Amino acid sequence: MRTVPSPTPEPADEHRVINPATEEVIATVPATAPAEVDAAVRRAAAAQHRWAALAPADRARLLRRFAAAVDAAGQELARLEVAEAGHPLGQAAWEAGNVRDLLDYAAGGVERLTGRQIPVDGGLDVTFHEPLGVVAVIAPWNFPMPIAAWGTAPALAAGNAVLLKPAETTPLTALRLAALALDAGLPEGLFQVLPGAGPVTGTALVDHPQVAKIAFTGSTAVGRAIMARCAATVKRVTLELGGKSPNIVFADADLARAAATAPASFLDNAGQDCCARSRVLVQRTVYDHFLALLEPAVHAVTVGDPADPATAMGPLISAAQLARVRGYVPEDAPAAIRGTVPAGRGYWYPATVLEAHHADGRAAAEEIFGPVAVVTPFDDEEEAVRLANATDYGLAGSIWTTDAARAIRVSRAVAAGNLSVNSHSSVRYATPFGGYKQSGLGRELGPDALRAFTETKNVFFSTQHD
Ligand code: NAD
Repeated sequence: MRTVPSPTPEPADEHRVINPATEEVIATVPATAPAEVDAAVRRAAAAQHRWAALAPADRARLLRRFAAAVDAAGQELARLEVAEAGHPLGQAAWEAGNVRDLLDYAAGGVERLTGRQIPVDGGLDVTFHEPLGVVAVIAPWNFPMPIAAWGTAPALAAGNAVLLKPAETTPLTALRLAALALDAGLPEGLFQVLPGAGPVTGTALVDHPQVAKIAFTGSTAVGRAIMARCAATVKRVTLELGGKSPNIVFADADLARAAATAPASFLDNAGQDCCARSRVLVQRTVYDHFLALLEPAVHAVTVGDPADPATAMGPLISAAQLARVRGYVPEDAPAAIRGTVPAGRGYWYPATVLEAHHADGRAAAEEIFGPVAVVTPFDDEEEAVRLANATDYGLAGSIWTTDAARAIRVSRAVAAGNLSVNSHSSVRYATPFGGYKQSGLGRELGPDALRAFTETKNVFFSTQHD
């Protein structure tokens, strides 16, 4: 990596990393050509054989050392995430902690990756969970550090080698994690980071016959294309894709809490969050009151320099993302609530709340991936569920009510993988995460995370004498 001062066009063989709060180029990183991907797969395959042959306790010990190295480098990793992704420092520190916790949790799973003994006639039947071999993790830019680890930690724990392709805009934390893994004593080649363009480096991984699985997190459009391409080699694939998640507020809810917490649910990471509750559905009888409570809560969000520990919302990731958000919602569109942004350089877009009757249909239905929410009134529970499910996505959602029976009914009726009642929390390393419908395929995190990186083998041992 080196600093590049001039704004000349980016060559195809490297990526510039730009601080989105200042628009400064902070590093350039070489892109990985397809021939280099092939060499990386071979190195990874050799390392994987050594790794899978280690005693489970030794693999677990090395992963715990990796977790300890991440813990010791937590501040440094957080500052890298601030610089390359524009995340507020407090959030970035949480993300570094999430990577550490996930590695520790995965390490705990190594010795508990147990098969089953199944009663059968005429012998003994046993299942084994065997590593897939070399797997690829393709990560997005919105949470580059934790999402890199969501796939990497359980895959390594299950005995695989990992090739991680970070997003073009955010390779720095991933590269640092790979260096920490080596420092911690993981075998050379076991965990490699291959920066590069999706259609070049990513496609080379997807097409490679020795890559056994693609764990992809990103947009639904790219996920769909990857899934189709994986068919050629019958590659295993998990997809963590986009969302347009509802936040359903019933009249019986604690409205003060629902309104006070709603801004974080769609402004977190400047709205570039797959779980953003960007469709706020409010029961009509409390609609005006809720909007009146929401307005000061949105204005209370501190927007500015992400390196300042007091900041809650930073910039968008790139000029392209800013143009995309403006394409959905011009900054002069009629809004119920609009926040402010710092003047000067950086890819800033203000917090914006639109009422459905003023919002353009695309803005109300599609994933904008910016700090924009659309508020819609509903009359009763049935309409709330119908509106919540009126989308091809199904990733997350919140339900605000003090009626326990209603919370149970609605949480069972909303078609989404990650729901929270009287909360906006979606991601915990110990609980399963993933989407219904076009928000994804398969689950990450949680107690079954390691199994998703294994094949199940069934062996029948005959006890018959011929
Ligand atoms: P993206 O789909 O543009 O890119 C994701 C990754 O795929 C990047 O590394 C990119 O280089 C790579 N890629 C692009 N084209 C490729 C191709 N043809 N072959 C192989 N790899 C390719 O997504 P993004 O813009 O980086 O991220 C934002 C999207 O990710 C949003 O839709 C968001 O909802 C989604 N997301 C989902 C989750 C989840 O867990 N469900 C989490 C975070 C982000």
